[in-house]
This record gives sequence, C-alpha cells and structure tokens, in this order.
Amino acid sequence: MMKNKGRMIVVSAPSGCGKGTILAEILKDDSFFYSVSATTRAPRVGEEDGVNYHFISNDEFEKLIAEDGMLEYAKYCDNYYGTPKKILEEKMNEGINVILEIEVQGAMKVREICPDALFIFIVPPTISELERRLRKRGTESDDVIAKRVSEAAGEIQKAVNYDYILVNAALEDAVEDFKTIVKAESMKTACSKNLIDEVLKNA
Ligand code: 5GP
Repeated sequence: MMKNKGRMIVVSAPSGCGKGTILAEILKDDSFFYSVSATTRAPRVGEEDGVNYHFISNDEFEKLIAEDGMLEYAKYCDNYYGTPKKILEEKMNEGINVILEIEVQGAMKVREICPDALFIFIVPPTISELERRLRKRGTESDDVIAKRVSEAAGEIQKAVNYDYILVNAALEDAVEDFKTIVKAESMKTACSKNLIDEVLKNA
C-alpha cells in the first residue's frame, strides 16, 4: 500500500500540563518527528544546539526569512524564534508526522499558513490539579505558581480554536488518546484519497 504524507501536528498546553512527558512518549515512535525551533538567543546552561533549539546568528535567521525558509517566526525579547520549514517538508514527504510544540499565538499563525495541520491542545483535568502539580514540582514560589495558574486559565480558554482537546488525567491514557487522534485523522477521506485508486488497481 502507498504511504500517506505525514501530518503536521501543532501541540500547545499551559506550563505544568505534562505536555513534555506526553510528547517524550509519543516521540519513542519513529513515525513522529519533533520540530526543533531556531532562535537567535544565546543557549542557556545545559541547552544543546540542535536539541533544544538551533542556535543561529541574527544574519542567518534573517537570511532564512528572506529565503522563505521559516514556516512562522516571532520576535520575543529582542530575539527571533521560528520554525524552519525545509526539514518539516522532507519528513512529511517521507510519511512522518511532524510535531510543532508551539505557544498559542504561534499556533494560530500556523493555522493561517497550514490549515491542513492538526491542532491539539492539552489541558489538566482541573485548574486545581494543575496548581497541585506545579506545587509538587517545587521549583516555583507561591507568587509564580499563582501567576502561572492564572495564565493557564487564560490560555485554556483559547483551546476552543484547536481541533482536539486532550485531557491529561493519567499519562498512559493521554498518550493513547494522542495516538488515537492521529490515527483516526490519517484515515479521513481527505488524507486517504490515493487508497481508493490502490484498492481498485487490480479490479
Ligand atoms: P525561551 O527563550 O524561554 O526558550 O522561549 C521564549 C518564547 O519563545 C516562548 O514563549 C516559546 O514558546 C517561544 N518560542 C519558541 N520557539 C518558537 C517558535 O518556533 N516560534 C514561535 N513563534 N515562538 C517560539
């Protein structure tokens, strides 16, 4: 059977929703590829080039913009951040699904540029559970936790602009649900038209 093209999957979630853990599980499957953003900001301690970001110069970034090499980009705190386009196209042509982990504004830009992409928003079961998880992590002060919780509440309201809302109550279930969404989407008629010709080939 002919392989379908891979899908672009945009994933957003407020901090503390377990997005990183879910994606780490999903990415164990090599039919998924994680899109590493490019940035002009300096690497932080422990960050690796090509893993956390592609750390590039201002000139290189602007050259990529001029060559139409960025799917989307934004300037944040005087630094550029963006999604390099070429690798995504290559992977999708190989039938691999590419995952863009991107905040809500960037996601909505991608929605305009790539209306065929799949948009998944991950939420905690409740806001109080999110607060409990942030406290358990123990890395932030009460003030910061309160700010993150209130920011999360605002972000979660934007989930209505996504195709799917994935509740992360239990990790295993959330990973399974993620895979189910991607599988069902791949079977939609729009993604599987070539299958009809394949099925009828030897009729
Ligand atoms: P940080 O410097 O803390 O790693 O990231 C700063 C901000 O840039 C975060 O809000 C992050 O979501 C955003 N960001 C990271 N990569 C990209 C990207 O490829 N495109 C856009 N639009 N924003 C990004």
